[in-house]
Amino acid sequence: MKYVVGLVLVLLLAAGGAFVVAGRATPPSIAIEKPEKFVGLATPLEVAITVPDAASMKPLRVVFEQNGKQTTLFSLEDPGKAQIKQEGTDKVRITANIGKQTIPDLQTGAARILVTAGRPVLRKMRTIEASASKDVQVRLERPRVSVLSTHHYVNLGGTEFVVYKVTPDDVESGVVVGEVEYPGFKASGATVDGVKITDPSLRVAFFALLYDQDLNAPMRVFARDEAGNVARADFEHRTFPKPFDKRNIPIDDQFLERVVPAILQGTTEVKPEGDTLAKFLVINSELRKKNAEKIASFAKQTSPELLWRGIVFHPFRNNAVESAFASHRTYVYKGKEVDHQVHLGFDLASTSNAPVLAANRGKVLFAEELGIYGNCVIIDHGMGVQSLYAHLSSIDVKPGQDVEKEQALGRSGMTGLAGGDHLHFTMLLNGRMINPVEWWDSHWIEDRILRKLKAVGSAAPSGTQN
Ligand SMILES: [Zn+2]
Repeated sequence: MKYVVGLVLVLLLAAGGAFVVAGRATPPSIAIEKPEKFVGLATPLEVAITVPDAASMKPLRVVFEQNGKQTTLFSLEDPGKAQIKQEGTDKVRITANIGKQTIPDLQTGAARILVTAGRPVLRKMRTIEASASKDVQVRLERPRVSVLSTHHYVNLGGTEFVVYKVTPDDVESGVVVGEVEYPGFKASGATVDGVKITDPSLRVAFFALLYDQDLNAPMRVFARDEAGNVARADFEHRTFPKPFDKRNIPIDDQFLERVVPAILQGTTEVKPEGDTLAKFLVINSELRKKNAEKIASFAKQTSPELLWRGIVFHPFRNNAVESAFASHRTYVYKGKEVDHQVHLGFDLASTSNAPVLAANRGKVLFAEELGIYGNCVIIDHGMGVQSLYAHLSSIDVKPGQDVEKEQALGRSGMTGLAGGDHLHFTMLLNGRMINPVEWWDSHWIEDRILRKLKAVGSAAPSGTQN
């Protein structure tokens, strides 16, 4: 008898011990990844849960709590429209939508998201639970946006300008062309022809129809608040095709031997193998792409104010145009076509080592070697507008330096992928290469930009909100 009691006691102790040990097993780890802070009319919810045996996770629940009322956004028993996806053996991701559709009583104000997850242990005799919560702010009022400027004419590869009004004051706004967004900037503070703009709700945005975009690419002004509520406004516009020329670029061994080793010495971005032609092809495609990404990365450093002055950018009139914007180039080596690239800039030749002048007033953002561009300078003119100067033999400016229109930046040369001494020049908008010819045309600047700025004091909205 004594023996039996002892055995039972040992078994009970063992079971109790197992129960306690099981209780110390790792609980699920919960991360409420989205929303970050704000919930709008329709906001994505994303919860990631890490747990050793994801397939057996139970319970699993996501609850939205506002004004003391709880709404279940997801549960294993009733997932509704939410989705649960297992990622590997130890991770589960729940995606759902928070908004008026899922929570009819949703109101502007404070709210909380609560997540509970559990895992069975000890042959499902015990469950270890974990929970997480996040405080959020609900915003249900859509921003408002209306377009004030009229007559928007966009050339393929070229730029346009729009003036619009947006409320409330703190929302992000701009123009979207196809998939490409251009930020808008506050117009207040700017003075045009003695007219000072004071309305804090006025915004302006430059936007482009990139050389490879469709002429029918949708163009709209948008405004988006932190909760993801979006308003859009159409504006009247016309687009015009632009014929881009095609040309063959013969390349020979002498050219390859000069440019390929020099470019590779100055970059760690690509490490091509093979003969000089093979290396050239990597430089011409991969390095060209990486250099374009680097150039685009300066867009976010743009000044929110217009830095340029006058009615025209320096037109480089003393230079012969060797190649115009968006020329479609076929590279020919020993009679064979070896590559195709689009040349996004102007090649302007004058004398060797000629002074390279700033196209307009601005701030130097970049002044060093950049792959195929050789010694390269990028100047910010504000509101997303920048200019680029390439193949310089020497650079006389430093990043952060303010420059005046036609101030010397350095001297022309043939560094990078250049067949001879010339200046490669292009304008950039929000980091994308755009046709500079418009900026050399005082009529274009007057009509596309200055006219619209002068008109904003008196004009009534011309756009429609949807
Ligand atoms: Zn060029």
